[in-house]
Amino acid sequence: CGVFGIYAPGEDVAKMTYFGLYALQHRGQESAGIATFDSKAQVHLHKGMGLVSQVFNETILDELPGHLAVGHTRYSTTGTSRVVNAQPVIVPTRLGPLALTHNGNLVNTAILGQELIEQKCNLLTTTDSEMIALAIGLEVDKGKDWLDATISAFHRCKGAYSLAIATPKGIMGARDPNGIRPLVIGILKGNPTRYVLASETCGLDIIGAEYLRDVEPGELVWIGEEGLASFHWSQKSQRKLCIFEMIYFARPDSIMCNESLYSYRLQLGRLLAQESPADVDIVIGVPDSGIPAAIGYSQASGIPYAEGLIKNRYVGRTFIQPTQHMRESGIKMKLNPLKDVLVGKRVLMVDDSIVRGTTSRKIVKALRDAGATEVHMRISSPPVTHPCFYGIDTDSQDQLIAATKSVAEIESQIEVDSLAYLSWEGMLVATGEDPNRFCSACFTGDYPIQIPDPVKRSKLI
Ligand code: 5GP
Ligand code: SF4
Ligand code: MG
Repeated sequence: CGVFGIYAPGEDVAKMTYFGLYALQHRGQESAGIATFDSKAQVHLHKGMGLVSQVFNETILDELPGHLAVGHTRYSTTGTSRVVNAQPVIVPTRLGPLALTHNGNLVNTAILGQELIEQKCNLLTTTDSEMIALAIGLEVDKGKDWLDATISAFHRCKGAYSLAIATPKGIMGARDPNGIRPLVIGILKGNPTRYVLASETCGLDIIGAEYLRDVEPGELVWIGEEGLASFHWSQKSQRKLCIFEMIYFARPDSIMCNESLYSYRLQLGRLLAQESPADVDIVIGVPDSGIPAAIGYSQASGIPYAEGLIKNRYVGRTFIQPTQHMRESGIKMKLNPLKDVLVGKRVLMVDDSIVRGTTSRKIVKALRDAGATEVHMRISSPPVTHPCFYGIDTDSQDQLIAATKSVAEIESQIEVDSLAYLSWEGMLVATGEDPNRFCSACFTGDYPIQIPDPVKRSKLI
């Protein structure tokens, strides 16, 4: 999911949130929503199913007045695909409504949901995000202020959460103690009373906000009349940023770990060329996510880069569509091979990852049908062997091709002449940081946040 928040009296916050979400569209295409607060502490909400551009128009944005706002783009990891599950989630409290947007996934919802019901909370949806909002509301109603209430609620939440929360008085931004999902702070027009929160820096760029810093793992920031205040509420915080954000999920023009993800992905491709060379005529990338690594591979190997597949820019990422059937039919709408580039060539195709192997197999066949004489595949990350419990929709383990098959078996299943993956070390070394500062559990099974057994059993073989 994508989250966005803005505190900017005097600005059209609804419109800025709209553009912020527009830049964060790749993080979720199922639903979108914006909540604003006006000076009378009234909340104004609009949310719906579909893309940001389908959910909003000028008239709707004009009916969202205020000086602060939060917004969300959703793809479902928990809860079904229905408009009630769209965010922001609004919860009434003693201090007025709160509007919450969440990226990530809690792992203790079974217990937390039960406790909230016992505490007479009215759970309207099936989402973990609503549980966080209700937990905050409960603490506010016990007499706490926004900050204390939010921190108390966080102590009940286990899992991944990057949040942008709006209240009548200000907005809050927070990350779980491991900072699994990203969240950045921007400053608007250099004015230290106007701040923006966004999942990625591309959400700041689009409205001309300047990147200030990341929200730290285990940090809660309050942005209001007095500017920005920071609270470190968690004793044990150790950064475990999701490496999948870096290799695939986030936009290549976003900055993480002080460098654009485009540069990081180029570097993955260069390392891949060193680790797994091939005797071929051209290197192609699977659009869009495989292209930076393909260019890196070409640079390091000296093999010419070519565009062998053209993507229809107007269809969403296939993996965001909820069913296997839709996924399988998605590919035909999405990619078309360029015959005159491919015919008679030994082709090396680079992609960022293989998850189920269904897309890869189809693309390989399409390349051969278009006249490629050999098709080799190189993947700019290691084999995905474990599911994610922290907010990336990588299915259950039995759906992951590398969970049960060796590289040689995958090679024959997707019908390539050769297949190689980047090493785990290579992927982490290319970040230029301490490997311990990342979650890479989908490649290792080494989950940084403990997962309750029943939850584990639901997704592991
Ligand atoms: P596959 O061959 O596994 O069907 O599809 C691989 C493609 O899916 C890659 O191009 C990759 O960019 C994309 N992908 C990356 N992450 C995910 C994910 O979490 N789930 C799914 N289904 N596909 C993903
Ligand atoms: Fe990211 Fe994988 Fe960790 Fe999930 S398990 S947070 S996708 S690195
Ligand atoms: Mg891809």
